[in-house]
Amino acid sequence: MDLLRSVKDRTDETEFYTPLPDGYQLGKVKYVAIFGTVISGLGKGIFSSSLAKILKDKGLRVSPIKLEGYLNIDSGTLNPFRHGEVFVLDDGLETDMDLGTYERMLDQDLGRANFATSGQIFSTVLNKERAGSFLGRDVQMIPHVTGEVKMRLRELAMQTRADVVFIEVGGTVGDIENSFFIEAIRELRYEEGEQSVVCVALTYVLAPPALGEQKSKAAQLGMKRLMAYGILPDIIACRAEEPVLDKVRQKLSLYSNVPIRRVFSMHDLPSIYLLPNALREAGIDSEVVQLLGLGGRVNSALEAKAVSLWNTFADRLLKSDNRRIRIGVTGKYTSLRDSYASIIKALEHAGVANDVAVDIDWIDTTDITDETAAEALADVDGIIVPGGFGVRGTAGKIACIGYARRNKLPYLGICLGFQMAVVEYARNVCGLADADSTELSPDCETPVIDILPEQKKIEGLGGNMRLGGQDVEITPGTLIAELFEGAEQIRQRFRHRYEVDPTYIETLESGGLVFSGRHPVHPIMQVLELPRDVHPYFLAAQFHPELTSRPLRPQPMFVGLVAAALQRKNAAVTC
Ligand code: GLN
Repeated sequence: MDLLRSVKDRTDETEFYTPLPDGYQLGKVKYVAIFGTVISGLGKGIFSSSLAKILKDKGLRVSPIKLEGYLNIDSGTLNPFRHGEVFVLDDGLETDMDLGTYERMLDQDLGRANFATSGQIFSTVLNKERAGSFLGRDVQMIPHVTGEVKMRLRELAMQTRADVVFIEVGGTVGDIENSFFIEAIRELRYEEGEQSVVCVALTYVLAPPALGEQKSKAAQLGMKRLMAYGILPDIIACRAEEPVLDKVRQKLSLYSNVPIRRVFSMHDLPSIYLLPNALREAGIDSEVVQLLGLGGRVNSALEAKAVSLWNTFADRLLKSDNRRIRIGVTGKYTSLRDSYASIIKALEHAGVANDVAVDIDWIDTTDITDETAAEALADVDGIIVPGGFGVRGTAGKIACIGYARRNKLPYLGICLGFQMAVVEYARNVCGLADADSTELSPDCETPVIDILPEQKKIEGLGGNMRLGGQDVEITPGTLIAELFEGAEQIRQRFRHRYEVDPTYIETLESGGLVFSGRHPVHPIMQVLELPRDVHPYFLAAQFHPELTSRPLRPQPMFVGLVAAALQRKNAAVTC
């Protein structure tokens, strides 16, 4: 270990190639690495964000990173149908939906340093090779690629001044894609020294219905696989439907040398928001604190306050089950809920804020027309037209928006839903019969929605939309101003290529549409609404309000939609 402490011995001259950020002190920052074994889809992100949250509650600075095995540079070009929604960070990085889970659980904004793909790591190494940084050496997976992974982890620690970095290794142990991440963590653990890196293995305990009992074999094999990489876990967390039996925990302990008190049952819960408390009650946080020697940094008063705030939220969530409303969400990817994860979460948060449970009706608009919209929306108390790309289903979306506008059905339009509301209004109220978006009809006569000027010069589709957090100037006295309690400027996250063509703004406004949020400098329309004497809640945004909703800080536009939907439902009951 002492070898590593001298700068000379970290150079290309020795086998200990471990580039460290300037000023980095080995062993100062703590790391918790989380691996998934047996199967994917165990809820690794939810588990690791909950664990990070309960450490943050103790007053520790935490910083998560997701290590993704795929070769894409970011998640922007991934199909949400295959990979879940694309989550956009404030700094514009398009990431995996798990980053959304971390932001929500930790109530903390993340940035590009919190997300690394194999593609990013390899491209950095290859660029360094071309720049001559490894002259004379053959560039290898170990130590150069693993060295780059460790560099990313340590840079994140320094940049965010983290007490604890949470490393979530994407995929399942045994995949080729993530094997060098696992190796890098093995090296990290060796280099950082004792009490610096805790390894948590999340596993799955099978309970085949035909047997009626829990079986530990798959979990055991998963653990063996992890140990074959040279990682002996400190903690095992067992996912299972029912509480994991002591006899199963004992077996896992015996086969992996992990003391039984550190083999935890992480069985299914009625809501993910109950997980932080479940982890706390099981004592997993105290084990991590002890293993990392963090006892001296814990602030119990802060923790008590954070726990009580969270419990209030969780209690309200469970109680809100007594009252229900129904929101229709139109969407192309209606068969896969992950594609709309943040919208589902934002509705959940807004439901709790209104003490009501929100049921979602997924509405495939492919076959909806003006004639059938009433029938399709008969059961809902409000609708959302979310973001999307391409023409499929847009005619049906426009029909739904028209129905909502005419029938005072609460409406929230998001990005494409904002653009389609403009098209609907232009056609049916302003008399611009040919109004359309050039994304859907490139040669249309009246392109009320057209490509942004800066997008015209761009070729290729990766990471080049108008992306990330931007300021929105709010018009005083409007619905959006009221929702944001009189704020004159808000910051929201964008991901789009098209906008309202500025030449049509005047026509649309004189037709009664109110643009109540704009770019502070350029004529980019960011929020539209109808006056409240015309419609109780007709609101749409060019940005994605769902991306910034947090359990304890629900996004006001969703809170408003749920409140309006509830009011409509109550009014219908009293009639
Ligand atoms: N396809 C539209 C655009 O690129 C809307 C994008 C979105 O809904 N995220 O502008």
